[in-house]
Formats: sequence, structure tokens, C-alpha cells
Amino acid sequence: MEHLSNIGVIRDVLSRHGFTFSKALGQNFLVNPAVCPRMAEQGGAGPGVGMLEIGAGIGVLTAELAQRADKVVCIEIDDRLLPVLDETLAGYDNIEIVHADVMQVDLPALIAEKFMGMEVAVCANLPYYITSPVIMRLLEQRLPIRSITVMVQKEAAQRLCARPGTREVGAVSIAVRYYSEPKLLFQVSRGSFLPAPDVDSAVIRLDVLPKPAVDAPPEAFFRVVRAAFSMRRKTLLNCLSGGLGIPKAEAEHLLKEAGVPSNVRAEQLQIEQFASIACRLSHAGLPERT
Ligand code: SAM
Repeated sequence: MEHLSNIGVIRDVLSRHGFTFSKALGQNFLVNPAVCPRMAEQGGAGPGVGMLEIGAGIGVLTAELAQRADKVVCIEIDDRLLPVLDETLAGYDNIEIVHADVMQVDLPALIAEKFMGMEVAVCANLPYYITSPVIMRLLEQRLPIRSITVMVQKEAAQRLCARPGTREVGAVSIAVRYYSEPKLLFQVSRGSFLPAPDVDSAVIRLDVLPKPAVDAPPEAFFRVVRAAFSMRRKTLLNCLSGGLGIPKAEAEHLLKEAGVPSNVRAEQLQIEQFASIACRLSHAGLPERT
């Protein structure tokens, strides 16, 4: 179908199918024709590449991906959209819609089965209610994907791409950098969506690293990062002691061993310093306390 991102076409298709937007499923569909081609190109859709999309909507981005890549597989949770997509994407023979919840589906099996060794990249206008969980699910499973290009809320984009040592940094920024190199690509105004959300958006790309950015056991690394950011404005010492459930003296010893000052705050630390604390923690064998 032509002009899928034309707002008149979208309204017509949706009304013919009696479709109403679900806020709970984060359904804000792109209606700005300039955005999807840009996302597809900067997301790496091209010859020889398989694209994995999350959330098809009526298929505006799906179609742009399919015009450039060899194959597109899109996971969509809302069965009401399946007949709509049958109609809007009828002209494409390289698109497969998988009716599933991205948080439940077996992603390694899906990628192996659908892409069969092809180079794979993720590109999606994510439902905002699960932005970080989806991104972390894609990264933590060490999937064979080269990048993740996603539209997220502007504030989330800033947080996800924040550099260690800056005020915007949070636990998720460090987690993302453990697995990937993040980049803020471009901003998208709220008026580019139907219905328009209350906030602006941005597209980011996470280039997945061949191996984690630092040499630290993941379990201990994420335990330390979570604890370090558990109480904003508190010192690292207090956060680690509280977050790891250990006496202050023990936390102080841990920091000393790792060569990290105890009176700094988590946002001042570089990723190597989190790794160093995690290595000591893992070495000390401190069990998780609940
Ligand atoms: N790609 C379309 C676009 O850009 O217009 C739609 C984007 S809309 C922000 C998010 C889409 O994700 C919706 O189609 C929604 O039904 C779908 N979705 C929401 N939660 C999902 C989940 N857990 N798994 C898979 N798809 C989901």
C-alpha cells in the first residue's frame, strides 16, 4: 500500500478496521513521513541484512525496513492489528509478523529460526511503557545482533546515552555501556505521532560490542551498579553499604581495595571503576542479602 505514513491513509485504514488506540500498549503511531526512512537508513537496513522490529502498528516502519533489507520480522502483541497489517503490507513478500509479547518470546530461538545466520539489526519505535526492560532484554541475552536503533522518549534517550561522569547518568546508562556504544541520532517532535504523546522523542542507536566493555563478572557488575545508584545524592559508600546489605566498614574496605574514593557519588564514576569494585566484590564472595 502506498503512502503508509500519510495521516489520511492511516485514519482511513484504522477506521475501516474499527481500530481504537490502546494507551496501555503504548500505541502512538508515526505519521511524519520523514522519520521512518531516516530510522531505517541509520538503523542499518540494507542488502544482506535481516531486521527485527518490535511493535508494527500499521506497518509504517516495517515497510521502510522491507524496502531496504532482505527480510523483516516484526513482533506485535496486539491481535487487532493483524488484519490491518495483512492489508497494509500486502505488497511485500519479505515481511513476517510474529504475534507475541516481546517480553515473553524466546528471542535467541526466534532469531536463529527466522534469520538463519543472516546479519541482524533491531529497529523499532518502542512502546514507551517498556523501553528500558526491552532494551536490557535485547542486550543481556547477548543476541547475535549488531545494533539496536530505537525511538524512545527524549528524556529516556538522554539517560540511555549519558556519559559516565555526567549528571544525567543513571544505572541504565552504565548497563547500556557495558554491552554497547550508545549514540543519540536525532530528535522527533510529539506532533509526529497519532495520537500525539505528552513528550518529545528521540532516536538512539546502540552499537553492540563484540564483548562487554569491561572485564567484570556481569552478576557482580550489575549488583554494584544497582546498589551505587540506589539512593541519589548519597555517597557511594552509603549506597553500597545499603544497596549490597553490608556493614559500612565492609563497603569501605571494598572501595579501598578497588582504589575508589568512598565519598564520591555514583554519577562521578567511570565504568572501569564500577568494574573494579565488582571484581573485588566477586573475589570477596559476598552473598546477595535480601
Ligand atoms: N511501529 C509503529 C509506528 O512507528 O507507528 C508502532 C509503534 S507504537 C509506539 C508501539 C507498538 O508496539 C504498537 O503497535 C503496540 O501494539 C506494540 N506493542 C506494545 N507492547 C508490546 C509488546 N510487549 N510486545 C510486542 N509489541 C508490543
